[in-house]
Amino acid sequence: MFNYSDKIAVAVSGGKDSLSLLHILAKMERHHPKSSLVAITVDEGISGYRDEALKLTVESCEKLGIAQHTVSFKEIYGLTLDEVVARSRKKSERELTSCSYCGVLRRRALNVAAREVGADKIATAHTLDDEVQTVLMNIFRGDISRLVKEKPVTDNVHQRLVQKVKPFCEIPEKESALYAYIKKIRFQDTPCPYASEALRNDIRFVLNHMEAKHAGTKFTVSKAMERMRPLLDELGKKEGFRECAECGEPASAQLCKVCEILKSLS
Ligand code: SF4
Repeated sequence: MFNYSDKIAVAVSGGKDSLSLLHILAKMERHHPKSSLVAITVDEGISGYRDEALKLTVESCEKLGIAQHTVSFKEIYGLTLDEVVARSRKKSERELTSCSYCGVLRRRALNVAAREVGADKIATAHTLDDEVQTVLMNIFRGDISRLVKEKPVTDNVHQRLVQKVKPFCEIPEKESALYAYIKKIRFQDTPCPYASEALRNDIRFVLNHMEAKHAGTKFTVSKAMERMRPLLDELGKKEGFRECAECGEPASAQLCKVCEILKSLS
């Protein structure tokens, strides 16, 4: 996932997984003097939620001696996530869930911030659980395009997209949590107020139930996906990338998803 001289932007939300990843990468990076780390936190603008996470992220970064950057939805898009959700609820027909808006806007914010700090890679703390949930979510939605794109190491499809890697993709969430507890890492454990709306919650419940009854289910799904990867990559080659007609950022259609969202809410 990494080269010895990479500048790695770690996406740190202030939760257990991202702070565990930051601590582990910081420990490894000490043995690789040509590489460097920078933490990037996206402030979506969720009142009463993000402030504590930001404080804990800054605290960990100071302790580890890692530079930390915060990028906010408000400064990039002119709207907080709370405002996006409020506008979407006023529409007669709500097109996306809060998490779907958040996901699209956060991916872009992270990429812009990583590009600005000159990062070679973005490391995110998606665990085995997250990865398998995403696979099933994409299948349940019939979203083959996303199924193809989501992988532990993204392809270099466009020079403005920083490559993403997921070092925890085979680590169960429980082990990442265990690491944080053993290392006494302070993290935010209150859930996001919008999390209960997410399809992901239902899938997490089903998967955990399956795992309890049939140990190894999550690994089995993950391994099955990797076996199908060559076929999925073939499908992905047909997708292609271009620049958004509105903002110039990479897009798979004439308008990128961010511009589509902002237009639909204006
Ligand atoms: Fe965003 Fe949903 Fe995560 Fe909240 S739970 S931070 S709305 S993706």
